[in-house]
Amino acid sequence: MKHTIQRPQVPHVGASRPVVAPIYPSVVYASDDPDMLDAQYEGRTPGFTYAREGHPNADALARRIDVMERTLDGLVLGSGMAAVAAVLLGLTKAGDHVIGGNQLYGRSLRMMNEDLPRLGIETSLADPTDVAAFEAALKPNTRLALIEVVSNPTLRVADVEGIAKLCRDRGILLVVDNTFTTPAAIRPLELGADIVLHSVTKLLAGHSDVTLGWVGANDQDLMDKIRVFAVTTGMTPSPQECWLAERGLATFDLRFERAQATAEALAAYLSVQKGVKRVLYPTRADHPDAMRAQGLLRGYGCNMVSFEIEGGRAAANAFVRAADGVAFAPTLGDVGTTLSHPASSSHRALSPDARADLGISEGFFRVSVGLEDPKALTATFEAGLKAARAVK
Ligand SMILES: *Cc1c(COP(=O)(O)O)cnc(C)c1O
Repeated sequence: MKHTIQRPQVPHVGASRPVVAPIYPSVVYASDDPDMLDAQYEGRTPGFTYAREGHPNADALARRIDVMERTLDGLVLGSGMAAVAAVLLGLTKAGDHVIGGNQLYGRSLRMMNEDLPRLGIETSLADPTDVAAFEAALKPNTRLALIEVVSNPTLRVADVEGIAKLCRDRGILLVVDNTFTTPAAIRPLELGADIVLHSVTKLLAGHSDVTLGWVGANDQDLMDKIRVFAVTTGMTPSPQECWLAERGLATFDLRFERAQATAEALAAYLSVQKGVKRVLYPTRADHPDAMRAQGLLRGYGCNMVSFEIEGGRAAANAFVRAADGVAFAPTLGDVGTTLSHPASSSHRALSPDARADLGISEGFFRVSVGLEDPKALTATFEAGLKAARAVK
């Protein structure tokens, strides 16, 4: 990835100019006269009018992510879910059908299952690792498909190329949530997707101190529709958060490489420990989608590792308490490693049977690997496993 650090073009302050971009908290922007305002609104002159419509910090951040995903245009929004909502609601109407991957992010699933149907938009879910299953769930009125590249928490890898071809053939817009994989591993538009989106909150910003989203496409007409809907419904990001995310992006390449390498090593370590029933990591030979991951993700596996320990909830409690060197927190992509327990967090709303179908037991954990010293990290897991094994 060639994501070079570009110094922003910042105006002079006296004889010199700052090397760090300023934050523009201003909500309103004064224009010279009504003719100038006309020119701005008609896009003949760049300029801002009102922060909900756009502001310099959001633009600067959007342009950086546009470069990473190589999109013609992109928009930063107040959260990853704002990006999902702007696409799903900005591009569909009552009577349309939307298809989604069956292991989407929890709130995206909720939008598919509750909010779209409430507005008269039909939805179905299908397995995105299986193009035939996906095709079987299409309808004559299917307008849009939403998938993630790597699923949470079982880390299944979608057949992005197969689904892109299917959607192209059937005239369906394909939207890919690239949050887990990032443009360092895959650029979905290059594989035939129409729209790509991110929870910038996660790996791109990387420090768990901002909540932001981004959506981009190569089709200006699609982006205009998404932008108008986002501005109308107030999905605007804050200038301060955009500034922080831009700073986070400066180290994205380094963080990404380091977290991947440690995740791979952690998966290898866990796979030979007593009391560990199984380890899920997309590039491992025993992963069901290993071949696809190799071809699709440029050799990367992602910074997430899932694993299952023996014993029920008591062993899981003991593991988390003893592995206190990592935060037990249901997020991902932070500089610090975080541990999540799907049965009590992201997947708690499912019945035990539905969880069992996905392979999520009380002993199932997902790790988002951060930037710690790999040896210190394994020591933390060792302490957790030892405590879990001691539970009878
Ligand atoms: C976190 C996440 C979202 C939602 O992003 P927020 O910034 O929390 O609103 C959407 N998709 C995926 C895959 C995520 O991990």
